[in-house]
Amino acid sequence: MRYLVISDIHANLMAFQAVLQDANADWDRIWCLGDVVGYGPNPDECMDLLRQHDHLSLSGNHDWAVLGKLEIETFNGEARAAIRWTQETISDETRKYLGQLPPLIVEEPFTLAHASPRQPVWEYILDEATAAANFDFFDTAHCLVGHTHMPMLFTELNSASSRLVQPTYGKPISLRDQRLIINPGSVGQPRDSDPRAAYALLDTDRMTWEQRRVAYNIKETQERMRNHGMPFRLIARLGMGW
Ligand code: ZN
Repeated sequence: MRYLVISDIHANLMAFQAVLQDANADWDRIWCLGDVVGYGPNPDECMDLLRQHDHLSLSGNHDWAVLGKLEIETFNGEARAAIRWTQETISDETRKYLGQLPPLIVEEPFTLAHASPRQPVWEYILDEATAAANFDFFDTAHCLVGHTHMPMLFTELNSASSRLVQPTYGKPISLRDQRLIINPGSVGQPRDSDPRAAYALLDTDRMTWEQRRVAYNIKETQERMRNHGMPFRLIARLGMGW
């Protein structure tokens, strides 16, 4: 099977459409690692577009906050404003669908978690020590995570350490003979100083992972956010990728 692996769409329809177009028909099923909504201007549209495709989706911390499953006070002011706007905006259908998504699923030989296998909704795996600790919390060969909005791969060296490998774009790498925690990056709000949407293609027959980036119409997403009176910093950050 070939999977389109995406995460953190965050209601950015322009970015999501660009990813689907760029990935073309090179996949059979979508694996979405959560945070379909929050931050961006098109939550219902992104949910509808995801549901038009064969997919499996997790829920993330923003999805939970929108549903009232997480304290909104744990988010910063701007994220809170976007969550409130999303709560008032989304359809009952979107709310119902989000409500039945789990934050972690095992699909051999992968564990899929929004944030981390240790804390599926909330932990940020950004460094080798945190990654190393998390290798003990899943039994499959590999774990796919989102949440940090940073494309990253961590390979397990031994029970106490891991090594961070920065992604190479457009060139498939082999997942065989190693254990990995892999983050495809964020579709709708990249934070690695590259504003292009991030995604990956996973081929489970060949066991290869290909990291990709694609430019999208950022100005259109920003314009829609402005029209909804969303916080300035959330609009500005899309242009810079932070
Ligand atoms: Zn997110």
